[in-house]
Amino acid sequence: KENTSAYKGNAKNKIMSQPTIFIPVDRSPEIQEARLKLPILAEEQVVMEAVRENPCVVICGETGSGKTTQVPQFLYEAGYASGGGIIGITEPRRVAAVSMSHRVAKEMNLPTQVVSYQIRYEGNVTSDTKIKFMTDGVLLKEIQKDFLLQRYSVIIIDEAHERSVYTDILIGLLSRIVPLRNKVRHTLPLKLLIMSATLRVEDFTDNQKLFKTPPPVIKVDARQFPVTVHFNKRTPLEDYTGEAFHKTCKIHRMLPPGGILVFLTGQAEVHSLCRRLRNAFPFRKSTEGEEEADTSEAMRKFKKAKQKKTMSLPRIDLDNYSALPVDEGDEDREAGIEDEDDGGSDIDLGDDPTDGETKADPSIPLYVLPLYSLLAPEQQAKVFRPPPPGTRLCVIATNVAETSLTIPGIKYVVDCGRVKKRFYDRVTGVSSFKVTWTSQASANQRAGRAGRTEPGHCYRLYSSAVFGDFSLFSEAEITRRPVEDLVLQMKDLNIEKVVNFPFPTPPSAEALAAAEQLLVSLGALEEPPVKAMQRARLTCPITPLGRAMASFPVAPRYAKMLALGKQQDCLPYVIAVVAAMTVREIFEDLDRPARSEDENSKLTQRRARLAQMRRLWAGQGASLLLGDLMVMLGAVGACEFAGCTPKFCEDNGLRYKAMVEIKRLRGQLTNAVNAVCPEVSVFVDPKMTPPTELQVVCLRQIVLAGLGDHLARRVQAEDILDPKWKNGYKTPLMDDPVFIHPNSALFKTLPDFVVYQEIMETTKMYMRGVSAVEAEWVPQLLPQYCHFGSPLEAPTPWFCSSTGTIRCHRPSTFFRVGWQLPAVEM
Ligand code: ADP
Ligand code: MG
Repeated sequence: KENTSAYKGNAKNKIMSQPTIFIPVDRSPEIQEARLKLPILAEEQVVMEAVRENPCVVICGETGSGKTTQVPQFLYEAGYASGGGIIGITEPRRVAAVSMSHRVAKEMNLPTQVVSYQIRYEGNVTSDTKIKFMTDGVLLKEIQKDFLLQRYSVIIIDEAHERSVYTDILIGLLSRIVPLRNKVRHTLPLKLLIMSATLRVEDFTDNQKLFKTPPPVIKVDARQFPVTVHFNKRTPLEDYTGEAFHKTCKIHRMLPPGGILVFLTGQAEVHSLCRRLRNAFPFRKSTEGEEEADTSEAMRKFKKAKQKKTMSLPRIDLDNYSALPVDEGDEDREAGIEDEDDGGSDIDLGDDPTDGETKADPSIPLYVLPLYSLLAPEQQAKVFRPPPPGTRLCVIATNVAETSLTIPGIKYVVDCGRVKKRFYDRVTGVSSFKVTWTSQASANQRAGRAGRTEPGHCYRLYSSAVFGDFSLFSEAEITRRPVEDLVLQMKDLNIEKVVNFPFPTPPSAEALAAAEQLLVSLGALEEPPVKAMQRARLTCPITPLGRAMASFPVAPRYAKMLALGKQQDCLPYVIAVVAAMTVREIFEDLDRPARSEDENSKLTQRRARLAQMRRLWAGQGASLLLGDLMVMLGAVGACEFAGCTPKFCEDNGLRYKAMVEIKRLRGQLTNAVNAVCPEVSVFVDPKMTPPTELQVVCLRQIVLAGLGDHLARRVQAEDILDPKWKNGYKTPLMDDPVFIHPNSALFKTLPDFVVYQEIMETTKMYMRGVSAVEAEWVPQLLPQYCHFGSPLEAPTPWFCSSTGTIRCHRPSTFFRVGWQLPAVEM
């Protein structure tokens, strides 16, 4: 704080003597007028002075104070895009990159060739571009190509408070690039601006590892009107969407005019609440169809059509869906911090939730709009326009509306208090979306949205006691997830000593070491010398295989499979299998308990159908040994063959959303593979034929090479001392047996060796995504896990089986994990 005020004084004195270049901008009078109301405008001189005087500047300001839209304009006007370099702005969310570039172009009255955006595989950047909005993943990739970022004169890291992994890494990298750029001759100096919505910026400023001299912090005071916060008295309900519905109805019926903003956690919830509210307060010129041009809408129409017994099935525009921006790294990251949908729940739209509810007095229509990150830009733009006269604006949003986008005219906020977050399983590396409580800082940000134009109210759908239990701030994402993909990306940037990297919040040393170890065993990093191995193995350089893997937008284990995939023309299958494995769950959960008799018989029927399909997809003989992955491959092939329709999925127990996602991923992975090895030139074949027997064998080996650390051995009957081990498998990491799930294609086969995708604990420890492995492949394909030599000299096995380690046929060959293996000529 001291820093700030001292700085301000200083700047005012100096500004007189600074010559300023001024690039004129031709703004319309309305825009000009609106701009002048933004708090950041009052700080223009302070900001520009600080930028001139310092290599790095931090700007903190309430959401809506004009940081994102105005700061790039200040820099442009001061000539930062006219001296041979351009202005780059990174956003953690694609939606912000696209919508802000449009907005700034409009404000400046410049074409999109000049104010452009780039999200991976999509953008409108030209050689005339002066201001470039991009996702942080895009800038990270650019650093991989040109470490000094010579095209840029300024980099603005926006929304730094989100603490997305890529933002954190970018700040770490830029803390090194900026001084380098300013040292290297014949290059322009580079300026770094970090913009944040909260005042908690110590991780960036008071961090000796990052910046030796702490950068000045400019605080922008936003005119914020008081917001009265109302807590729920009751203990929070599970059904917060229903609670949000009642609260919104109440506000609309009883409270004076003013827009309502409701915070929910995901796309499916947003749509369901939009529907309920539109039914309760019908809007004459209903734009519902138009506003819900997404897959759930297609599903709804489809159901309606079915009810009417019409023959024509609506076909959603799948090409449109797959043309959605496909970002390599971004994809995961953006999903990690916001409202990516885990799917499923919005498929079953059979029962209309407003049924049986009392219709509200529709005298003032409610103009209901959804807002979430994957919404088409034209639909998003609607929230910025004034609602039709005589209506009340009501925006149902995900976290996007918390700090990325500011909606005008909001007086009431309804906050469910939850957020959908990506969680990563440390053991399996598989991630999932879970709805959890948000942080106090986020809840306050949400409340603040109500006080932008006049005093407002925030209704929290939880009690103050619950609020008291929220964490103060959201954790940096980097501390919550496994880091092998990050470590690989950093090694690809030739950062060998990852432990020394100036992370704003470093991941634990153990997490980094574990990541490095996995990458070494996958062959992505060079094997360290023995001595280094005994210490932390954190300095291994990347291998050519690692470079190829780094360019695939999936976790390293799957990237390895892609990298190996071109043998025996297996690549299309590997891509399909990896896409299917990366999507959380492709089958509908039909094992759930039924809610009614009627549903029960329906479920029983569908279960039988799905079981039949699984058997069909698994095939017989050789193909059966690929196990659950063969089932996935069969399902993907069959579904695409049938045109990937909601009907096909429903009939066969597949999750429509998952299948659409797989289709999109296949396209994305295919592009990535073609970019790495153009000579193979794969394409997505919607009429993929099943793999040959030879290809199945090859696929099983490729899977083994990727999932090698997820190997399990069946405990032989003669070794079973404890009945709990019957039909059990032993894994390197666990003391207890794991099992093949009754739904698995290999449940009856019980192969001696398998690899699995992950372990899930339900009634037992079950392996998911199981595929059979031939024992003799192990020393050939996974020599890194084997010890070849006298058993006595073997390093400590990963675990001791219940009967101790077992010798191989050939006495000198010893498998490190203590499993019996046939002799192999190496
Ligand atoms: P910050 O980055 O500080 O949160 P912004 O620069 O995003 O602030 O927003 C400044 C103002 O511009 C807000 O009042 C917002 O409503 C307005 N604004 C942003 N985008 C649009 C748009 N597409 N149409 C109309 N107004 C917009
Ligand atoms: Mg902003």
